Amino acid sequence: MIDVDEAHRILFEHVTPGPVVELPLRDALYRTLAQEVLCDIDAPPFDRSLMDGFAVKAADVRGAPVHLRVVGRIAAGTQSERTLGRGETMQINTGAPIPRGADAVVRVEETESGHDGTVLIKTSVPAGKFITRRAEYLSAGTVVLEAGTRLRPTGLGAAATCGVASISVYRQPRVAILSTGDELIEIDRTPTGPQIRNSNQFLLEALVQSAHAAPVGLSPVGDDLERLTAAVQQGLEADVLCISGGISMGDRDYVPQVLQAVGATFRIHKMAIKPGRPTIFATTPTGKPIFALPGNPASAFVGFELLVRPALCALEGRSGVTGTQMAAELVGSLPANRDRRSFVPARAWTGARGQWCVERVSWGGSGDSLGLARANAMIVFPPHAREAREGAEVTIMLLDPA
Ligand code: AMP
Ligand code: MG
Repeated sequence: MIDVDEAHRILFEHVTPGPVVELPLRDALYRTLAQEVLCDIDAPPFDRSLMDGFAVKAADVRGAPVHLRVVGRIAAGTQSERTLGRGETMQINTGAPIPRGADAVVRVEETESGHDGTVLIKTSVPAGKFITRRAEYLSAGTVVLEAGTRLRPTGLGAAATCGVASISVYRQPRVAILSTGDELIEIDRTPTGPQIRNSNQFLLEALVQSAHAAPVGLSPVGDDLERLTAAVQQGLEADVLCISGGISMGDRDYVPQVLQAVGATFRIHKMAIKPGRPTIFATTPTGKPIFALPGNPASAFVGFELLVRPALCALEGRSGVTGTQMAAELVGSLPANRDRRSFVPARAWTGARGQWCVERVSWGGSGDSLGLARANAMIVFPPHAREAREGAEVTIMLLDPA
């Protein structure tokens, strides 16, 4: 059994970035950049007004209230060729270019329009007020987004600002999901006798989607050596294969045998975690990652969060991303831990002092997919930890942080 840190070291040693593709910007949301994005022009590209109001010479309004002659109107998307003279003003909209000769903007709220083509400026403003100077945000040539950044909506907007119509990103990993077990039935049927619904198929496909990768759902297979081998071979057409079930000590747990038969090398086999101990990470002779997770839903979930999600990041050029852990104040208590790192489904919220608080959810153990659904966090409880009492500081991992 290896610990989580060692597992991550091994994982990142063997999962290397996949291919790079060029995509129209629109199609690149949540992809990871394989290029940097540079500001192609100054931002903003000209001195512009931050407010709707009147462009003035600050010196003219020093003795406000004063009347100024309105000599123009600059809407966004237009500009004035005229230079502002003394005693003059132009009406200006937010985002419009400041006319030559003006050095400040008075907000429309601080003015009153006159009848005779004048405006009453009721307040003075210092030079520079409500003007965003050319290149005040960034100058042309500056890096806006580094390579290796996941393109989020704001990043996509920034790339658009920089005129990036198509962009170089890591291809979205395709992850084949294969559920195994003689007991599995489709979820639209009612189990009889020893049957159970194949919920892991949905859980794992959803997790893959939440990681912004593309799930490829395979038909479930029973605990049958030949069929399993065929399904694994089919699954290896994807970029990553993720198997659930069939890896424990049962005499019909054929997955390890099948992985060996297809030439996979085991890189991780058994981790010192609870739940999820039997988790396997293997690679094919061509270096394709295979994850074989225990069938118990909570075990499969923990295995996914600890190994598969970080691997999907690494495939997209972001090695070493293992999720954010933080300290939280325990509500309730946790019994002393044994020799494995425990992941305890829990609910976390922000307390009155802004601190994270966390409480275990009612959960029956690794087979309980329903209790698991109440959790928005996991308490990460180290091996051999003593009992943690109410108010103790514990470590948590937020699940699927938006
Ligand atoms: P296994 O890892 O194959 O020994 O399965 C362990 C437990 O997880 C058994 O109780 C299975 O019924 C359950 N299980 C296995 N596969 C699934 C699945 N696809 N969906 C829900 N539960 C499963
Ligand atoms: Mg099984």
